[in-house]
Amino acid sequence: MQETALSVDRVRGELGRTCNQLRLFAAFVEEGSWVSAHIDRAHPERKPLAKPDIRSLLRPIGPVAVFGASNFPLAFSVAGGDTASALAAGNPVIAKAHPAHPGTDELVGHAIVEALSEMGVAEGLFSLLFDGGLEIGQALIQHPNVKAAGYTGSRAGGRALMDLAAARSEPIPFFAEMSSSNPVFILPGALRESAEQIAKGLHASFTLGAGQFCTKPGIVFIDDTLGRSFADKITALINVDSEFVLLTAGICASYRSGIEQRSRIPGKRFSTSTSSDTGYRAGAVVMETDFATFSSYPELTEELFGPATLLVRYSGSDELLNIARGLEGHLTATIHATAKELEDASELVAILEKKVGRIILNGFPTGVEVCHSMVHGGTYPAVSDARYTSVGPQAILRFARPVSFQNFPDVALPDELKDSNPLGIWRVVDGSITREPLRSSP
Ligand code: NAP
Repeated sequence: MQETALSVDRVRGELGRTCNQLRLFAAFVEEGSWVSAHIDRAHPERKPLAKPDIRSLLRPIGPVAVFGASNFPLAFSVAGGDTASALAAGNPVIAKAHPAHPGTDELVGHAIVEALSEMGVAEGLFSLLFDGGLEIGQALIQHPNVKAAGYTGSRAGGRALMDLAAARSEPIPFFAEMSSSNPVFILPGALRESAEQIAKGLHASFTLGAGQFCTKPGIVFIDDTLGRSFADKITALINVDSEFVLLTAGICASYRSGIEQRSRIPGKRFSTSTSSDTGYRAGAVVMETDFATFSSYPELTEELFGPATLLVRYSGSDELLNIARGLEGHLTATIHATAKELEDASELVAILEKKVGRIILNGFPTGVEVCHSMVHGGTYPAVSDARYTSVGPQAILRFARPVSFQNFPDVALPDELKDSNPLGIWRVVDGSITREPLRSSP
């Protein structure tokens, strides 16, 4: 708390989440089926060519570099989701401490080293590096022994490291979660029925954690005829907010300059709550504009870390679909709709499905549940690789690669692929899923 100014409740909550994440991954690897064992038995009599025995599974990719996040000093840092998923897949981890909370990172690093030593695990499975600039991170991503990396941070930093990973003589996968404005689409029927409730929920969501969550709803599309009064409701809510304390000097400076830059854009209303603006303190901001202004200033779609949101008024469903089509990749999209509106919104859902990792109905995007079906991903520039999630057990797939063994005798196969299935895991045998040992040839 001394280092981050986060509240005790937030830090306790995040600690619980961090431990639960580690336990979830532990249970996932103990159950064992995540290795996706596939067995295709030999068929020597097959004509015209005999079929060989081929068996495959997922193996660790190799040492993984982890760049912790400034906004989750526990759950997305040294012992966070990237470290947990890389270790769970069987990889050594080299974590880079974030300069926003080096003391916390050091405490957590010691806890991991102690735990590994108690478990009798080889030294070197985990390392922690500190940095006074960019060199260590850049050297880490270029080191020939590093085989993959996980990152959470700005788009500029993510893109720079992603390019370094691709430019190596042996390019490596780089999994970055970079920036997202998490568009919210409020359809007119829902706004007419529940304006008060949606306004309260939206306000709570974009100011949660002082707006420093990757899933903060940063752009909200509202019907033109009802938009003004909705904006008034949100403005009334920020007017009673206390000032917010941001995490770092860098985030605070970017928030202030982002607000300043946007305040110069013509054709919008602008409301801000009171703040002394000293230290890392800042006020909440609500901006309101129309679709024409929004489309003329592409910078309005960029992530603005901090307690601010932009309301954009649209006229009619065609304009709404055009807005959706023009969006870049984000982590989430949210739709507020009545049951009837949802029936007619299949085109909107189909467009959003191509751009984001998670679509929320009649709720808000902050509060990312850590569970098997969570997709915390999306498309570029929200993430560097659209195929994976960085939250939940499926995040392990980023740090594993498939290997197949052809015509190996049973004794030389990994346990996961042996005939007797000694680990009792689910496997796909000749195309059918089963936990049974192999008894006879097909
Ligand atoms: P950052 O400045 O991008 O830093 C993230 C990490 O990447 C740090 O460890 C940093 O190292 C490293 N890094 C950045 N650029 C690098 C480069 N060119 N070469 C090597 N390493 C590099 O992010 P931040 O300080 O956490 O926050 C800044 C902004 O990022 C925020 O205002 C927000 O817009 C965005 N952000 C987004 C999310 C999200 O989840 N969407 C989360 C956090 C932050 P050093 O700092 O040690 O140099």
